[in-house]
Amino acid sequence: MQTLAVGDEERLFFLSDLHLAEDRPATTAAFLAFLADQAPLCRRLVILGDLFEYWIGDDDDRPLATQIASALRRLSDQSTTCYFMAGNRDFLLGDAYAERAGMVRLEDPCLLTANRLRLLLMHGDTLCTDDAPYQAFRRQVRDPAWQADFLAQPLAARRAFATEARARSQAATAGKSDEIMDVNAAAVVATLDSAGGADLLHGHTHRPGHHRHRVGQRDCERWVLADWADRAEYLVWEGGEIHPVTGMPAAG
Ligand code: MN
Repeated sequence: MQTLAVGDEERLFFLSDLHLAEDRPATTAAFLAFLADQAPLCRRLVILGDLFEYWIGDDDDRPLATQIASALRRLSDQSTTCYFMAGNRDFLLGDAYAERAGMVRLEDPCLLTANRLRLLLMHGDTLCTDDAPYQAFRRQVRDPAWQADFLAQPLAARRAFATEARARSQAATAGKSDEIMDVNAAAVVATLDSAGGADLLHGHTHRPGHHRHRVGQRDCERWVLADWADRAEYLVWEGGEIHPVTGMPAAG
């Protein structure tokens, strides 16, 4: 498993599920304000997937992608290292865009370590094992051959596919129960057990929270990130503790 070692005195910010899109200008504005005002206060900014509502290839030259890349690049050119783990919406975001945006790509899962921290980072969709149709879809689109075939299509065809996939996802989500859409507790415990009883931080479910899971002899903590549908919300790790920050607090 990929590991990322950090210093105990560093401040890290975590966020996910902004679902940036042309029809959500308020979220884009909130994220740009966050990158300019709050993000420079942390040593590392970790984006855990679904930064974008959809991604059809790094060659997509839509203005939103360029605008976000420039803002992220400005941040990493200062003093904040930016990381990106793919979500189920932007899993096609590749090396070319990550480089343009100054982001280091992370595998899913990735183990973050410090002297006082062992934190498993995931997008979270792989923990939703009760949603069999989604897991089948995921296996298909994460297949390198499928991806190569998709990326070889003209941009217009890929854009049409993404529009259709968004509509299909909305329809499927509407027909699924809350339980099926959430993480499976046994999958969480098995994952944390295989990571040696680490704590867990993930997004994807859009159900921000703080949970405990008994893993062997240990109570492991699980932090779930918020989406940015109504307001900016991210998790901060500093001084050996994780805590949520909501809204746009004054810098300082
Ligand atoms: Mn997701």
